[in-house]
Amino acid sequence: MENFFNNTNQQDFTPLETQYDDLKDNYKQIFVEAAESIRSEVNKFKPSNPCTVCTVKDCKIEKKDVFTPYPPNCAYREWQLKILAFLAGDYRQKLKNTYKMMMDKKSEYACSRCGACCRLAASEFSYPQLKQKAMKGDKFASDFVSVFVPFEKEEDAKKVNPEYFQLLNELVEEQKIYYYYCPKLSGNECSDYENRPDVCKDFPHNPLKLLPSSCSFNEWKKSVSRTAMMLKAKVDIIEFYKNKLG
Ligand code: SF4
Ligand code: SF4
Repeated sequence: MENFFNNTNQQDFTPLETQYDDLKDNYKQIFVEAAESIRSEVNKFKPSNPCTVCTVKDCKIEKKDVFTPYPPNCAYREWQLKILAFLAGDYRQKLKNTYKMMMDKKSEYACSRCGACCRLAASEFSYPQLKQKAMKGDKFASDFVSVFVPFEKEEDAKKVNPEYFQLLNELVEEQKIYYYYCPKLSGNECSDYENRPDVCKDFPHNPLKLLPSSCSFNEWKKSVSRTAMMLKAKVDIIEFYKNKLG
């Protein structure tokens, strides 16, 4: 393990277990904040005193909540439709801008070329599944199988980076996970750097991804993780609104 970290200062990195626990604990709280924030936005469209002018006979709806089913000619149904349009329009654009800012910030950090992401990569898909996805036009899968090959035994993957291996295993819990490595890595250097595919150039593709502790993008991840979690929570909540109100 000494050699493995020789390009990095280990003291700068949060241990992986802590990263994962922090993510889980923070996400619950952030999800509640995101739900409250969206609720406050959608409440701005809530009609005031619509029932005083409503012509629907014998309305029995007592709880005038955003998720209550309303008849088509009800002002609260109009409210729900406005919410759907808002979430799919202005609000979605706002989230897209935040996403872009977060990804742009990544350019402030540089790969320290520790080689950890080339030595051990994980996927929920087996090699034949990835090849099939690649044949169907999935760019990520196509890039991935163009360089990565599967470890023959999980034990071999574990030896490469036991800490990262354990963390990835814990993350997916009961789901099967497949481990890969790139044979083009020579020492800590890519032997085909100029031709490496986007899957390598863009790593890490997302700040919520678990990273090896030696990865210099952990600093980027730390600086945007709250934003990333808030975005994820909002996207999940919007999906919930769409399903309930659509
Ligand atoms: S092609 Fe190069 S950069 Fe990509 S995984 Fe292989 S060694 Fe790493
Ligand atoms: S992206 Fe991160 S893990 Fe991969 S080589 Fe660069 S610093 Fe290491």
